[in-house]
Amino acid sequence: MAKLSKIAIILPKGVPFRYTKGRFNVYPLSTIPLTIPVLVSLVPKELDIQIEIYDESIEKIDKENIDADLISISAITPTVNRAYKYADYFRSKRIPTVMGGVHATLNPQEALQHADSVICGIAVESFPQMLRDFKENKLQRIYTQLENLDLSKMPLPDRDCYNNKSPFKVKLNGVQATFGCDNNCEFCVQPYVCCGYHQRPIEQVVEEIKSIKSKFIEFYDPNITSDQRYLRKLCEAMIPLKKNWVAPATIDLADDEKLLKLVAKSGCRSVLIGFESVNQNTLNEIFKGFNTVYKYQEAIKKFHKAGITVAGSFVFGFDSDIKEVFKQTLDFINKTHIDMPRFTLNTPFPGTPFYEKMKRENRIIEHDWSMYDCNHVVMKPQNMPPEELQERFNWINKEVYKLGPTLKRIEFLNMFSLLALVANVGLKIKNSNLDKYTRDIMTDNSDI
Ligand code: SF4
Repeated sequence: MAKLSKIAIILPKGVPFRYTKGRFNVYPLSTIPLTIPVLVSLVPKELDIQIEIYDESIEKIDKENIDADLISISAITPTVNRAYKYADYFRSKRIPTVMGGVHATLNPQEALQHADSVICGIAVESFPQMLRDFKENKLQRIYTQLENLDLSKMPLPDRDCYNNKSPFKVKLNGVQATFGCDNNCEFCVQPYVCCGYHQRPIEQVVEEIKSIKSKFIEFYDPNITSDQRYLRKLCEAMIPLKKNWVAPATIDLADDEKLLKLVAKSGCRSVLIGFESVNQNTLNEIFKGFNTVYKYQEAIKKFHKAGITVAGSFVFGFDSDIKEVFKQTLDFINKTHIDMPRFTLNTPFPGTPFYEKMKRENRIIEHDWSMYDCNHVVMKPQNMPPEELQERFNWINKEVYKLGPTLKRIEFLNMFSLLALVANVGLKIKNSNLDKYTRDIMTDNSDI
């Protein structure tokens, strides 16, 4: 039997916290990722393991003082270099280290160069299994998520584990009802990280929501509208809870008037819609042809009429994007009153078929994973030099949040419109420094 009386769970510093250089050690709008609370809840009680958590986004990690029998680190692609630094450090101290998260899931062989074991996909079953194996000296190199994953066994995330972690009172109000997505949009990692689409039993989700004191719930699902029958049942069950909620959704939600009414009645106050592009050919090219541009404006009106604000996400750097697309998108956003626009750059994440395709075409120009934050150009675009794509991307990110157009654009429907205003102003401040997010800041070579 191996000694396993203490485990340390580490989440390396998130990308936005590199920009702020530790000035704001609190998550924006008090939303905290569920990674650590879920992992804490998955530690089997019968193993009697003491758990220590370290979230580098809100605290400095004093690594020399971490005394554990096992280290567990979770990372996404732009944070993985830092995760590797931690893993290398602890292994140099002969403390076994396990890695999980999106990047390790998609690139297990790379992660294994820094860790003793890798957990791929959703860790609900594999994390406790890994701990039992470790204790019995049977640690496997790779744990893979089963396709027939049973989420009914998932315990509720440990919402108390962040207590005393921040000088501000934090509200852990994120909930995830479904995992993965059955769509296959070319730029998205969701179809690959979760081995398909999975739902938690609605009663369990409702029980979790009931346990949250806050009136405001944020669903972290990739797409809450994936299965409209499930969504209908979830909304019916949420009506008595009298919560306000926001979630990512697809635009076809607006096509079904009855469902939209039910969604609003259940407390939905804002949806994040992946519009991605205002060009139908582009949408077809990236396998997101189920988004139909000619219906966009009408759909946004329907959401507003239902009292739901619209956050809209757009991606630039697709093969059919020409320089005019930036102005066209800005005009579209202002004309259609998208309350909270957001932009990212087309990013081929390592380990996906899209990355392999770009590699075959010799178009990958950035090999430092820290730069894969969707705000930096990492592949050769088709119709303009990479520098021009970056410049135009920075331009729209500054232009769209100017106060005058923002005030005209937002539909003041309810208090969530005020939150949209606050978010617009927050992004305006952040993006005024966009040109300063240089490689030095991004690669974050500061010591761990
Ligand atoms: S619908 Fe959304 S979550 Fe699903 S694959 Fe497309 S972009 Fe990803």
